Amino acid sequence: MMRFDGKAVLVTGAATGIGRATALAFAREGASVMIGDIDERADETVALILSEGGRAAFRKTDVRRAADLDELVAQCLDRFGRMDAAFNNAGVLPPQRPIHEVPEDELDLAIDVDFKGVFFAMQAEIRHFLKVGGGAIVNTASVGALIADPNMSAYCAMKHAVSGLTKAAAVEYAQAGIRVNAIAPGFVVTPMTQHWADSNEFTQMFFAQNISGRAARPEEIAPTVLHLCSDGASFINGATFTIDGGQTAH
Ligand code: NAD
Repeated sequence: MMRFDGKAVLVTGAATGIGRATALAFAREGASVMIGDIDERADETVALILSEGGRAAFRKTDVRRAADLDELVAQCLDRFGRMDAAFNNAGVLPPQRPIHEVPEDELDLAIDVDFKGVFFAMQAEIRHFLKVGGGAIVNTASVGALIADPNMSAYCAMKHAVSGLTKAAAVEYAQAGIRVNAIAPGFVVTPMTQHWADSNEFTQMFFAQNISGRAARPEEIAPTVLHLCSDGASFINGATFTIDGGQTAH
């Protein structure tokens, strides 16, 4: 018997990176996985899950559109007959610039994807969880929700907002049996951060500051998400879990 046998989970942003690794991990522990992503390469995540004998489906979803997220939840219920947990992970990292040089369209992108995308996803998920008496939600924040790095103001502000939104939702829905937590990963090598991983100057500076001396692999983030969505986390609510190899410990 695996932890998510007979359960269905929704994952946004699972074409690549942390979301892809987490969708695979859920499927390997028995979950049916409904993926929403703007990038049709999410089909490849589904194909891999199916090739391993798991269950998964993909619906093209732009998390900036509330209607897309309503439809994603509906598709999860239609395909798998249930939805027990959701991982709201889709995100973007706008170009790095000082605050006085950030153009409005880049600010809007961070607000729309990194904050409103999570808000809209939670609205759709919570409406369902209220009907069935509970569920678990995990939102992807970042160490940028805890500390600030230069030239990442909009991203950092939106990740702080995700952490705050997570607490607000936990407070509002705890009595309805809905747990809402967030994760705060440090530097994880994914398509979002490949340009940093490829830069010797950046990695030397970063690794010198990080007590682990390395970046994470997406597979090192997934287990915490699964735990937070599992019954083993029944008393964890409103928390933002740091997964940063000790980056923020000193
Ligand atoms: P990634 O680029 O591999 O994944 C981001 C995913 O979000 C992709 O699948 C992308 O297609 C999807 N996406 C982007 N815009 C979307 C939209 N409008 N609608 C639907 N899907 C959309 O990068 P990642 O590093 O795996 O990022 C996943 C999450 O982790 C993001 O929220 C990111 O901010 C966060 N994060 C990443 C790191 C890191 O170091 N990589 C650190 C902390 C937090």
